[in-house]
Amino acid sequence: MSNNSYVIGFPRIGEKRELKKVLESFWAGECSFDTLQKEASALKKRHWLYQKEAGIDFISSNDFSLYDNMLDTAFMLGAIPKRFANLQKEELYFAMARGTSQLPAMEMTKWFNTNYHYIVPELSLKDNYKLDSTKVIQEYKEAKALGLKTKINLIGPLTFLGLSKRVDGKDTYELLGNILPLYIKLLEELSLLEDELYIQIDEPIFVKDNETKVLSLIKPTYDKLGSISAKLKLIVTTYFEHSNEATGIFVNTPIWALGLDFLYGKENLQSLEFIKKSGKKLIAGVIDGRNIWKSDLQKTLNLLEQIAKVVQKEDIIVSSSCSLLHVPFTLKYENKMDPQIKDWLSYALEKLDEIKLCATLFSKTNLDTKEQKALEANEQSAKSRKTSSLIHDKSVQQRVASLSLFERVEPYEKRIKLQKELLGYKNLATTTIGSFPQTAELRKVRRDYKANLISKEEYENVMKNYIDECVAFQEECGLEVLVHGEPERNDMVEYFGEQLKGYGFSQNGWVQSYGSRCVKPPFIYGDISRPKAMTLDWITYAASKTDKIMKGMLTGPVTILNWSFVRDDLARSEVSKQIALGLSDEIDDLQKAGIKIIQVDEAAFKEGYPLRKSKIKEYENWAVRDFKIAVAKAFPTTQIHTHMCYSEFNDIIKTIEAMDADVISIETARSGNELLKVFKKVGYKQEVGPGVYDIHSPRVPSVAEITKQIKLLLEVLPKEQLWINPDCGLKTRKWDEVKPSLINMVKAVKQVREELSI
Ligand code: GLN
Ligand code: ZN
Repeated sequence: MSNNSYVIGFPRIGEKRELKKVLESFWAGECSFDTLQKEASALKKRHWLYQKEAGIDFISSNDFSLYDNMLDTAFMLGAIPKRFANLQKEELYFAMARGTSQLPAMEMTKWFNTNYHYIVPELSLKDNYKLDSTKVIQEYKEAKALGLKTKINLIGPLTFLGLSKRVDGKDTYELLGNILPLYIKLLEELSLLEDELYIQIDEPIFVKDNETKVLSLIKPTYDKLGSISAKLKLIVTTYFEHSNEATGIFVNTPIWALGLDFLYGKENLQSLEFIKKSGKKLIAGVIDGRNIWKSDLQKTLNLLEQIAKVVQKEDIIVSSSCSLLHVPFTLKYENKMDPQIKDWLSYALEKLDEIKLCATLFSKTNLDTKEQKALEANEQSAKSRKTSSLIHDKSVQQRVASLSLFERVEPYEKRIKLQKELLGYKNLATTTIGSFPQTAELRKVRRDYKANLISKEEYENVMKNYIDECVAFQEECGLEVLVHGEPERNDMVEYFGEQLKGYGFSQNGWVQSYGSRCVKPPFIYGDISRPKAMTLDWITYAASKTDKIMKGMLTGPVTILNWSFVRDDLARSEVSKQIALGLSDEIDDLQKAGIKIIQVDEAAFKEGYPLRKSKIKEYENWAVRDFKIAVAKAFPTTQIHTHMCYSEFNDIIKTIEAMDADVISIETARSGNELLKVFKKVGYKQEVGPGVYDIHSPRVPSVAEITKQIKLLLEVLPKEQLWINPDCGLKTRKWDEVKPSLINMVKAVKQVREELSI
């Protein structure tokens, strides 16, 4: 047996989201913890068997989790925040993840540049760190009982610390002295399990730009961990980017292998010489673990051959580029998809076969008939993707190539004058971010319409009634720039994707986002175009119901891109440009129909930032360019708004300014006016709508509170530059929270205007 196929980690949510279902039923008190554990064991078993059947040589244990692996690691180390001190076992575990009625949950944040969110450990010098290896060992034994000798996955100590925060705000790496002895103890315990045992230690922190001080921790840490027992073979993995600085150090420690991502970190090729010299094994991440496309195996083999020019073939193990956690489970249930498109895709289960086949092809020259057939089928899919008219659209390509309008015709100073004249809005103009509460009725009607259970007319009537109510309420409470409320949108990306050519949707393409929560991102498989107007009818209908200004609402190109699986046969920057062109047509249609303010949401602008500083400029350049392409056709009098769900603009304020939107609304309520100061500091010219109340909580803010908040804003920016709005869209809130909140917001503005004679 060749022993050269490897999977970094496997999804745990289940092919039919079984884990989600049992977790939620446990949380609702509908089943016992015992039932939850039984279901978890059944899932683990099934997932191991899938990998075994596919012939994968290196299968993991401890990649499973009831909530999150970082949380598991904190738990394993006894890093329990003080407020949870009175809880134990599963109650403690889930309280840390989700909070209780009395205790706030731990913070959650994005895992590198993926859409997975991990629990951020809260460390303190006073913690009573103590090893609890139960889960790690139990999971290993569970697999062994099925006849599988797994590698054991651990999050490495340096990544654990790098991604944690300290309650006193100080450097987390200072706690290495507390944590490392526990890792040593853990490895000692594990070495008692077998005569030979593989341990995968994830250290993805080293794909970021690290300070020399942090890099200098690698050698002493791994000299220790690597010399605990000759029975243990340590495999250090990084993913999502290159880790060249760290690789140069890891090769001089007594680890057995290094796992590198050669798809998202091509620069890792520069480290091959080091690896060769060290004689270590190389886990070569060459099958895309975070995108849904079937590999073109010929290309993958070429890449492996390129690697093999330096590192000996026998030392190369073929692997997924990262854990398969980031892709959906299986294509098996996708029975509504166009078969041709489906043939281009590969989810986790299908990727197992790709890894195995690739490993086989790489290590042997004589293929058996089955392997030969599989290779031919792969070549066929790759060929069809290169030529299919579903993907390649000449007219889109020509349009992109001859693109000439990148900027708005007039500069901001001129535009804003014209706009103020035409629109006549006051200082501290009030508006909202777009969506109003998504009721159960709305969701049902949308679903029924999709399933052909109700007629178009019935569907439209419900939507129109909702819009009527939204408009009536906004007029009643005195808001100045109105919105239609977005009742027709299930999701701010999917809604547009469904209407753009080149976009695909899955039925069962769920990916874990955090805990039990999954998302089903749409995917871009071909050249993008807009066959017909996407929002025009709804917006013009809403506008016809009021004399006030109706704001049109679109999702921006970068956000559409960042929240989708994107084709891998065209640069992201080109895909984004195509989306931008589609949106520019929409803006033109809207303005020609009399819509005078159009908001282009870029909620996910920041999410697309690269992990390495050296790559940021390039991203910013095309991301800004494409936002500008989308809005370039706007008349000077058409006011372009954008919205971003952040407030941390310190590093990117110049980039935000360069987007040249006339008005930007941002999420600032929770940070007072602190984060607004950077706008003043850099002399930001355009208008700003800093959120004056937090929409993530059901709490209704009082007039006094909002008044205070507005005054704080006025300390930073002049009244002429300020808009007043909530932090974000209101779709997740209930009407009986939204109504009093907005009424109070409008009252507060009135009060401030009177008081300060604005
Ligand atoms: N217009 C969208 C809404 O109001 C914006 C949401 C977002 O930025 N996440 O829901
Ligand atoms: Zn938002």
